[in-house]
Amino acid sequence: MSYAVDEFGVDYPGGTFLSGDRFLACPRCRELVDAGDWKGLRDWIGPNGLDTSSRAMLFGFKAHRRGGAVELAAQAGPEEQLS
Ligand SMILES: [Zn+2]
Repeated sequence: MSYAVDEFGVDYPGGTFLSGDRFLACPRCRELVDAGDWKGLRDWIGPNGLDTSSRAMLFGFKAHRRGGAVELAAQAGPEEQLS
């Protein structure tokens, strides 16, 4: 399943990384997102290991997400993996 997002960019030392227009989510990520448990999601993705760019990407996802999770079968196109 995945979440649609309005594409956004995350700056990092080498340039800007574009988010694409959807983020993949496994069932656990979906639970956490749907519960609004952003701290839990961050911990699930990388307990101590999220670098600045990854945090910015997660924050961007939170800010730019459009609606709930949808099944992948209905979609096509570039994808980003939450975890
Ligand atoms: Zn996941």
